Amino acid sequence: MKENRIYNFNAGPATLPLGILEEIRDSFLNFKGSGMSITEISHRSKWFDDVINDAIERTKRLLNLNENFHVLFLQGGASMQFCMIPMNFLREGMSADYVNTGIWSTKAIKEAQIQGKQIRVAASSEDKNFSYIPENVQFSDNAVYVHITSNNTIKGTQWASFPDTGSIPLVADMSSDIMSRPVNADKFGLIYAGAQKNIGPAGVCMVIIRDDMLKMAPDRLPSMLKYTTFASKNSMYNTPPCFAIYTIQLVLKWLEETVGGLDKMGEINRKKGRLLYDFIDSGSFYKGTAEPESRSMMNVTFRIKDENLEKLFIQESLKNGFSGLKGHRSVGGCRASIYNATTIEAVETLVDFMKTFERKNG
Ligand SMILES: *Cc1c(COP(=O)(O)O)cnc(C)c1O
Repeated sequence: MKENRIYNFNAGPATLPLGILEEIRDSFLNFKGSGMSITEISHRSKWFDDVINDAIERTKRLLNLNENFHVLFLQGGASMQFCMIPMNFLREGMSADYVNTGIWSTKAIKEAQIQGKQIRVAASSEDKNFSYIPENVQFSDNAVYVHITSNNTIKGTQWASFPDTGSIPLVADMSSDIMSRPVNADKFGLIYAGAQKNIGPAGVCMVIIRDDMLKMAPDRLPSMLKYTTFASKNSMYNTPPCFAIYTIQLVLKWLEETVGGLDKMGEINRKKGRLLYDFIDSGSFYKGTAEPESRSMMNVTFRIKDENLEKLFIQESLKNGFSGLKGHRSVGGCRASIYNATTIEAVETLVDFMKTFERKNG
């Protein structure tokens, strides 16, 4: 560990590559010779233009997006998308299908219903406490889109492959697994992700939207809640969150140039996931909470068989230099979030700690 940094397993905001934090620090007072920091320069400057355009180009290359896709940076977090999606895509008489795989999906459904939009819950895993991803879901022929949460940050499940929706565009909340593995974007009409889990700091939401979806917006929508407003102004209709977008640009550069792309990233993430799950499965002291075939490679949720030991586990983990291993406040238990920037070494160190804890308390 360098510079008094701890092993950060937080769910979000979450760990970022150390080299990027150092680069930000080193260039902070004088960004690219401007004599100003990135938080002080105009978003209309050439300096910032280069940043946002580079972030867009790298996103397109990493995800292999064709020319029909726009990459946007919006505020309001992923939560704002819960309301904007039905607002922009569902006109009078239209309806959409949602798959409910957890707390975030439930919120997305609620925000559509609040607006009086017609939606159908095509499948749900609520019957088993959201511990699995539904299979063979039947979608409505007339659905305008199908909404899914690709990775369920709180419950620790993830779609291993995406459902077949025929010609209906998929809309996906990828907040906690965007850029963690290769994705065939052709199935998607819109992908969104709050940046603070896997690609940057809080304060910005990446939205990837297909051209034909832009045309669906009703005319009478507030400008700030309309995708076309941002698509027509390269995300600079108003002042964008410059610092957050700059950090994303550096993370995407790291993904392309240091990691070597999303195939490589996916391999590393699977390796990290396997290290933890294999260890959890190897004994009976710890127990994974998600069904094995639905397990997330980003958020590993588990319990200690004797749940009374969980408090001690969290206390000991903090003393030993680990942060963020407590489960979400709504579900309890333990969770290790192992996003892109979490190193294999960090996961190995966590496994060692878990072994030691088991030896002492098992
Ligand atoms: C964190 C999270 C959200 C909420 O993101 P905000 O940017 O805080 O609105 C939504 N969906 C998923 C899957 C998340 O992990």
